[in-house]
Amino acid sequence: MIRDIPRFSKHNYDVLIVGGGINGAAIAYMASLVGARVALVEKNDFASGTSSKSTKLLHGGIRYLENLELDLVAESLKERYIQYQNAPHLVKKLSFVIPVYRNETRPLWMMKLGVWLYDLLSGPYRLGKHNHLSRERLLSVAPLLAQKTLVGAVSYYDAQMDDVRICLENVLMADVKGAHVANYTEVVEFLKENGKCVGVKAKDILTGRSFEVRAKTVVVTAGPWSDLLLRKDSKKSAPRLRATKGVHILYKGQLSDQAFLLQSASDRRVFFVIPFRGHSLIGTTDTDYEGNPDQVSVDDADVDYLLKEAARVFPQIAFNKDNIITSFAGLRPLVHEKGSPSKISRKQRIEKSFSGIWYVLGGKYTTYRAIAKECIIKVLPRLSRKLPSDKEHPLFGSGEVSVDIKQAALRFGVPSETVTYLIGLYGSRYWDVLKMIDDDSSLRVRLCECSVAIRAQVAYSVKVEMAQTFDDVYLRRLQLQYNDCPSRQCRHSVENVFKTYVA
Ligand SMILES: Cc1cc2nc3c(=O)[nH]c(=O)nc-3n(C[C@H](O)[C@H](O)[C@H](O)COP(=O)(O)OP(=O)(O)OC[C@H]3O[C@@H](n4cnc5c(N)ncnc54)[C@H](O)[C@@H]3O)c2cc1C
Repeated sequence: MIRDIPRFSKHNYDVLIVGGGINGAAIAYMASLVGARVALVEKNDFASGTSSKSTKLLHGGIRYLENLELDLVAESLKERYIQYQNAPHLVKKLSFVIPVYRNETRPLWMMKLGVWLYDLLSGPYRLGKHNHLSRERLLSVAPLLAQKTLVGAVSYYDAQMDDVRICLENVLMADVKGAHVANYTEVVEFLKENGKCVGVKAKDILTGRSFEVRAKTVVVTAGPWSDLLLRKDSKKSAPRLRATKGVHILYKGQLSDQAFLLQSASDRRVFFVIPFRGHSLIGTTDTDYEGNPDQVSVDDADVDYLLKEAARVFPQIAFNKDNIITSFAGLRPLVHEKGSPSKISRKQRIEKSFSGIWYVLGGKYTTYRAIAKECIIKVLPRLSRKLPSDKEHPLFGSGEVSVDIKQAALRFGVPSETVTYLIGLYGSRYWDVLKMIDDDSSLRVRLCECSVAIRAQVAYSVKVEMAQTFDDVYLRRLQLQYNDCPSRQCRHSVENVFKTYVA
């Protein structure tokens, strides 16, 4: 993938997409698949916004059953399954348990009904069967749970995914299909003729240079930043979003092999404790946010809330801020509605402004493919008959992986665990990463004691995956921030290889 800024001014694109989170990436990929000339620009790095701050679930959203959003849940369950099939290296089945305590607002019978309905709505797309667990059975599999007032539990299946990688693989596929894509390219102004949008003025953040990009249609997929672009489009526009902040913490050590959906005692919300890379991902909060989306951050109050709620359910663990490996905050770009943040619908809206600019608002990560499809039907109606079937939506690494791990390890001089890990991250592209060692044997070296990641991945991030900064490699393409690494050696190693290859 080449970041070629001058070519953006040489074309009149069918579609220009503003924002390289999951929605922009998927729309760029799908629009390229149906034969449109596509440009995608992202002001920061791909997936650096909400699309790297999610709970990392492809899920129907069992809690939306309470809001009777049956259509959204059913659509999400189908999408979950399609992606489980299409991108097995990035999407894994995960078992969830919901323990129920006496006097909780959602009693056991309601939970039993919920998981039954969830499976029913899954229809042929079910990932596994729900179950009821007695108190004794639950404590035998999850002995750290609070026991007093525990009534029983239910279990069900959902899927865990890699939000950054799925987004990046959509961008890579868009590029393969002919889209022109660039990160660190900000849309600063819309170009208009007779009141209609004919393109944008964009700024290359890396050089400070401005340039124009012409397009027949502009689609804004700027997530929580959408209202800022809407105001550039028309000063009189009323805000369309209600952004809510969600914080996660990654707590040292895995509390269980199971994921837990838990009811919070303080505000009736539900939150998760999920096994994640050998540790426990705890989240999320859900609070209104009115500040600048660029400045969203984790506050002490967010961390206190999550630790307090987790400690109530796992009383044997002495939760302590020092054991937090990392934390992150993201903004849900929800369509404006009144009421409690958790009750706002996650359903997307795709709307056109007076100047002809399309805005993709709201939505869930899980339904990104369905959102992209709906967008193509609205924005490119004549090409929409070429939309691919559900099966024809492969991601960059979703080809078949046939490999003799030991032999690959021997061939490149790396440990077998490294080969297994690379297959998990890059799918069928793991070989391309390893092949870099043929040109530079130092790339086979491990980055750090804290993981089996190797230097070749840094080079691959720069050469193939358009990484422009240290963070693009460390936080997104390799996601090393989730490792418990006291020495911080991995930071230095990434920095060193990055400097060599970016030059
Ligand atoms: C805490 C939390 C947990 C969540 N968990 C889940 C989950 O487990 N499962 C699920 O299905 N959904 C989940 N979601 C929802 C999901 O993450 C979002 O719906 C999805 O990521 C939104 O993607 P997006 O592409 O619309 O926005 P974003 O990912 O925010 O992308 C928008 C992009 O636009 C760029 N941009 C902004 N302005 C400009 C400009 N002027 N020029 C160029 N680029 C610009 C930004 O830099 C950004 O990268 C969660 C959301 C949150 C906040």
